[in-house]
Amino acid sequence: DAEGRFTFVSEELLERTDVACEALLGFGFGDDSPLSVELHELTQLQKAQAERVPFRHITFDVRGADGTMHHMRINGEPALDGGDFVGWRGVGSDVTAAVVAERRIGELARFDTLTGLPNRHHFLELLERQLQRARQGDRSFALFFIDLDRFKWVNDNLGHAAGDQLLRTVTRRLLRLLREGDVLARLGGDEFVVVAETLCDGDTLSKIASRLVAAAAEPMTIDGQRVQVSASIGVGVYPHDGADGDTLLRAADHAMYQAKAAGKNTFAFHTRELSQRARHHFSLEGDLRLAAEHGQLVLHYQPQVNAMTGEIVGMEALLRWRHPEHGLLMPASFIELAEESGLIVGLGRWALNQACAQLAAWRAMGLEPPPCAVNVSRRQLEDESLVDDVRSALAQHALEPRLLRVEVTENLLMADTMTSQVVLEALKELGVELSLDDFGTGHSSLAYLKRFPISELKIDRSFVMGLPDSVEDVAITRAVVAMAHSLGLKVVAEGVETPAQHQMLRLMGCDELQGHLFGRPTDALELETLLSVGRDAPPAANVA
Ligand code: C2E
Ligand code: MG
Ligand code: MG
Repeated sequence: DAEGRFTFVSEELLERTDVACEALLGFGFGDDSPLSVELHELTQLQKAQAERVPFRHITFDVRGADGTMHHMRINGEPALDGGDFVGWRGVGSDVTAAVVAERRIGELARFDTLTGLPNRHHFLELLERQLQRARQGDRSFALFFIDLDRFKWVNDNLGHAAGDQLLRTVTRRLLRLLREGDVLARLGGDEFVVVAETLCDGDTLSKIASRLVAAAAEPMTIDGQRVQVSASIGVGVYPHDGADGDTLLRAADHAMYQAKAAGKNTFAFHTRELSQRARHHFSLEGDLRLAAEHGQLVLHYQPQVNAMTGEIVGMEALLRWRHPEHGLLMPASFIELAEESGLIVGLGRWALNQACAQLAAWRAMGLEPPPCAVNVSRRQLEDESLVDDVRSALAQHALEPRLLRVEVTENLLMADTMTSQVVLEALKELGVELSLDDFGTGHSSLAYLKRFPISELKIDRSFVMGLPDSVEDVAITRAVVAMAHSLGLKVVAEGVETPAQHQMLRLMGCDELQGHLFGRPTDALELETLLSVGRDAPPAANVA
C-alpha cells in the first residue's frame, strides 16, 4: 500500500522459500516491523514513498516457517488505480544463498582459511585500531613477529598436508598463551604476529617471548611422526620502535632476522638496550656469538685408555672458551646458554672442524692419533646439516670416518625426534661411531638402546665416584657393563680418579677408562707429548 506495507503476497512464496505469507502481510519496514532492513535501504524506501517512484533491490530479513532467517530482495513499481497512487507492485526473490556467500567472501577476505586467524589485510586494520587506542590512552604495546624455523623442511619432506596440520597446531598453542584483547594473526606462510598490550619492560617482554618460543618448539605428532620445529621471534615496542604500523612491523621483522642469525629458536628485540637489560646473560650471549670469530674457542683433549693395558685408545675433545675478561670458561658456564640461544649449532660445527684439523695435524707430524670423540648437542642433531658438516670436515682433512666419534647424551635419545634418529643412522652409515654419554643419568630403557645405532656406552661419573664402596653403585655399574656387553656395546667409564676405581672397573670387564687418573683434559700440545710417549712405551706402568 501507499504506506509501504504488504497487502498481497502470492502463495508461491511459501512453496518456494518456506516463508509464510503471513510473515509479510500487514508489515512494512518501519521501526516496529519484524522485517529488518539496512538503514540505507530504509532511506531509499522512504524516498520512494515520498516521491512515489520505483524502488530497487531492497533486501530484508524474515524468519521462515522453520525459524531460519531468510534474506529476501524485492523491487517495486508504483501502482495506480484510476490515476491515484495506491502503492507498489513488484517481484521478490529469496537471496539467502547469495547473501550468505557474500558474507563468507567478506570473511575470507579478512581471515585465513587454514587457521581461522585474521590475515595480513585484516591484521593491518586491527593494528591501526590498536594504534589509535594506544595513542588516545597514551599506552604502549608490543608486537611479536614470529617466523617458524623449519617449516619449509616439514613441507618439503612430509608434504603440504603435514605442513597445514603443523600450522594449525602452532596456532592452537599460540592462542592458548594469549590474554583477552591480544591479537594473533597469520601474515602468510609460516609468519605469525602477536600484538599484546602489556608492560613493555625487558623482563615482561622476555617472559612473553620465551613462552611463545617454547610453545612453538614443543614436539608434536603429525601422522604418527614426531615433528619438531622452532620459532624465531622479533619484538618491537610501540612507540619506542615505531609510532606507526609500518615502522613497527618493520622493526619487529628486523629483530626477527636477528633472532634467526643468533641461531634460531630464540627471540630478539629491536632495541638493543632492551635486549641487554632484559637478559642478564645477554652480553655473555653476545660475546659467545663472536667467540669463534675472535679465536677464543679451544678444544682440550682427554685420553681414554684400554682398561687392561693402559694404552691410549681414544680421546674426547672438550670445549673451552678463553673469555677476554672472565678467563678460561668451562662448558658448564656456557653450553646451556649456547643451547638455549641456538648458538650451539655454530659452536658444535667449529668443534667438529677443529677436532678434525687437529687429528690431521698430528698425523702430519707422524703421530698416530687414536679416534677422537666430539660431543654433540640435541640441537645439532635436530639440524639436518650435521651429517654434511661431519662428512665435509672428514673430507677436508682427509680422515677416515673411524677416527671421529660422536657423543650424544642419553636424554637426547629419549627426546626421540624423528630427525635425530635419521641423523644418527646417517652418521653410522658414514662410518662414524656413536657413543652414549652420561649413561645412567637419563631414563632410557633397553628398548631405546636397541633402537639407535650406538656402539658404546659411557657410564656416568656419578656412578664411578661411588666405587668401590657404595654397594648400590657397584651393583649398578656391574649391571650396566653386563647389559651393554650383551647388546654388543663397548663400555667406557668416565671420571676414574683412583687406582681402586680402576681396579674394580677392570674386574667388572669395563673396556675403556677416562678420568683424571689417566690424564686431565689438556691442550693439543700436551696431548701430543702423551701420544709420542705412548708410541715409545705404553703408559700402563704409570697407572699401576
Ligand atoms: P662430558 O662429555 O661427560 O665430558 C666429561 C666431563 O667430565 C668433562 O667436563 C671432563 O673434564 C670431566 N672429567 C673427566 N674426567 C674427570 C675426572 O676424573 N674427575 C672429574 N671430576 N671430572 C672429570 P667438562 O670438560 O667440563 O665438560 C662438561 C660437559 O660439557 C661435557 O660432559 C659435555 O657434555 C659438555 N661439552 C664439552 N665440550 C662440548 C662440546 O664441544 N659440545 C657440546 N655440545 N658439549 C660439550
Ligand atoms: Mg662427552
Ligand atoms: Mg659424560
